[in-house]
Amino acid sequence: MTQMNAAMFYAPMDVRFERIEIPKPGPGELLVKIGAATTCGTDIKTYERGHPTIIKKTPSTFGHEFSGEVVELGAGVTSFAVGDRVCTCNAVPCGECFYCKKGHRNLCEDLLILNGAYAEYIVIPARMVKTNVYKIPDHMTYAEAAVSEPLGTAVHAIRRARIEPGDMVAVLGSGPLGLMLARLAVLRGARVVLSGEITEERRRVALDFGVQEFVDIREVSDVAARVDHVRGLSDGKRGVDVAIEAAGFPSAWEEAMQLIRAAGTVVFHGGCKAGTTVSVDTHSMHYKEHTLIGVYHQDPDDYKRSVNLLASRLVDGRKFITETVPLSQVIKSFERVRRFEGIKFAIDPSKME
Ligand SMILES: [Zn+2]
Ligand SMILES: [Zn+2]
Repeated sequence: MTQMNAAMFYAPMDVRFERIEIPKPGPGELLVKIGAATTCGTDIKTYERGHPTIIKKTPSTFGHEFSGEVVELGAGVTSFAVGDRVCTCNAVPCGECFYCKKGHRNLCEDLLILNGAYAEYIVIPARMVKTNVYKIPDHMTYAEAAVSEPLGTAVHAIRRARIEPGDMVAVLGSGPLGLMLARLAVLRGARVVLSGEITEERRRVALDFGVQEFVDIREVSDVAARVDHVRGLSDGKRGVDVAIEAAGFPSAWEEAMQLIRAAGTVVFHGGCKAGTTVSVDTHSMHYKEHTLIGVYHQDPDDYKRSVNLLASRLVDGRKFITETVPLSQVIKSFERVRRFEGIKFAIDPSKME
């Protein structure tokens, strides 16, 4: 067997399923048979409009959240064995550049990015094998291990948020990341209000995660009414201690800034379109000592914590998986997520139909 099934990105809205060569692991690398790849908002954006850093040339394999079984070792690999079940973060820092040395490995100037999870096999590069690959315990499904990558970014955001036990936290955005951030805030001891499109499935998962209050933006479409409502839930209606934005719209960034109390913090997790701006109330910023924090990506330490949280099921990764589907359903799954029909889909690349 030398060929495998893979989803190939040719251009926005043009993904084809093809037979391509199974890659060979070079020195220090691992060949992994993918057990599950999970759909992600980034992949959906890539499918719809392309991606400057993820897709460098076309046609290209794509998909970036996965876990699987080691089936072949590159020369010199001793830390893993054939048959190991593993997961990895799809981006790994160099450890040598200006930002890596400053302790901001998430902002590495030479980030190595791995693509190609929507395929039967993938080669994990040596730098990743050294830093960012973990064996997963037997009880863990491949699908729940695959969500370790997005959860790592939520871990990074929560570490920056400095939530104290008993704090009130508002999370804006009810997609997978909003739900992950909400769960991590609950684990920090916060009372969490989740604001977003609250579908039945999302509500169920969030309730299981310990979220106590909801604002369905489809029902309360007026921003001022939403702000009043959330502030009304807080101590003395002063505003929440921490607001975390996970929707990726400038309007949501501005809404988040209106929710916090004096000396409160906003964490911006959702990336907006390049070139967009928001306006900041200078009066609040000065007289209320607001703290605004941008967060991006994760470092290897965040990723390790993410794997531990999933392995212990303190964050139950199974809850993000709406359904497991064969490889040919990748695009259909994106469309279903867009219609709020699911949280994440697990793609099983070993099945074509
Ligand atoms: Zn992702
Ligand atoms: Zn670096």
